[in-house]
Amino acid sequence: MNDQIARISDIDVAHHLHSYTDARRHENEGPLQISRAEGIYVFDPEGRRYIEGMAGLWSVAVGFSEARLLRAAAEQMAVLPYYHTFTGRTNAAVAKLAEKLISIAPVPMSKVLFTNSGSEANDTAIKLVWYRANALGMPKKKKVISRLKAYHGVTALSASLTGLPNNHLSFDLPFDCILHTLTPHYRAGSNETEEAFVQRCAAELEALILREGPETIGAFIGEPVMGAGGVIVPPTGYWKAMQDVLARHDILLIADEVICGFGRTGSMFGRETYDIRPDIMTVSKQLSSSYQPIAAVLVNDRVYQPIADESHRIGVFGHGYTASGHPVAAAVALENLRIIEADRLVENVQALAPLFGACLDELATRPGVFESRSVGLIGALEFEPRDGQAQGVIGTQFSRALLESGLICRSIGDAIALCPPMIITEDQIKVIFDTFAQCLDTFG
Ligand code: PLP
Repeated sequence: MNDQIARISDIDVAHHLHSYTDARRHENEGPLQISRAEGIYVFDPEGRRYIEGMAGLWSVAVGFSEARLLRAAAEQMAVLPYYHTFTGRTNAAVAKLAEKLISIAPVPMSKVLFTNSGSEANDTAIKLVWYRANALGMPKKKKVISRLKAYHGVTALSASLTGLPNNHLSFDLPFDCILHTLTPHYRAGSNETEEAFVQRCAAELEALILREGPETIGAFIGEPVMGAGGVIVPPTGYWKAMQDVLARHDILLIADEVICGFGRTGSMFGRETYDIRPDIMTVSKQLSSSYQPIAAVLVNDRVYQPIADESHRIGVFGHGYTASGHPVAAAVALENLRIIEADRLVENVQALAPLFGACLDELATRPGVFESRSVGLIGALEFEPRDGQAQGVIGTQFSRALLESGLICRSIGDAIALCPPMIITEDQIKVIFDTFAQCLDTFG
């Protein structure tokens, strides 16, 4: 390690509190430094190359250092580096991005509200549900149902939607109006059929609604495919069965498309892959390939019209962020969506999905591996628990072995998630799975 690298490591340990990191361990081990990136690769300061098998955080669809995005950012920066969207202000980039999102939305949507992150988008979606309930004179209809293992973010409200223990422990989140129902994880080989499992998920949802009182439930939120909960691909018929229950009780559906949106599952939105008909959609990540922080909440007329009336009654819609609809972020997102379409990246996902899924399925036949799960270019391989080992130990050890071999993946418990940039090629996928197979061969 040269002096400059050692110095960055020291100042990071001294001053930086990292997300999703054991702070004491970080004090001892220090950071992994990444200094540049290109295509599907990132490089450490010593020039060591890694395949970014997670597209950063499920997000860099067009790959790293895409010159067209750099140009879009620079051009926008030169003319209007910032302006806000409060009190009716707009700019060309944000207006065009709103138009674009409405035009590609997979179900009729009326309006778009911009935020900076997926967490804020989901937080906003819930506030819109509450605002609408009051506007319609249904002030009790404010509870929201989410699912165990869901990931919807980390603001106080979106962390409450999240159904993962690490996002709740020691935070004392104040929202008891958020309820959680079953994770849609069907385990093949269990003594329940897939159909019976789906019926059980729907029956549990309905029982929860009836227990709480349908007049108190405002919305249900779900990711079409759960990402951070371990890449949980829903079983056949799941979304139809769940939506039938919601429709019976007049409950809004929020689709969190923060990971699935813009091609990840092999269609532009997870909605099309699973025939989901949301009233509200949240998007982020692949919206700008994460080159700029931006997210959006799309709402249909059922949601928009009462909100518009209520804001008129009060005189203002009292919500928004300083950087909502930031012009540089919007310009980058617009260009990113243009690239996804022009370079046919969704079609690339469709073309490569069978190979990606087959490679994962092949690895799932290895000793010690429990199952594979995938759709489009998102997948996971889960290890069987080993006697005497705490959950998550094998996952952590294996993802470290992959890192040593030049492949960045994410361990989630004892599952290893993969979500490569959508520009990936067939040969690069083969390299990923050769690396995986070699690590499995040598992993004790
Ligand atoms: N929703 C989903 C499905 C996510 O995967 C994430 C982040 O991984 C979020 C919301 C939160 O997004 P952010 O980290 O931008 O706040």
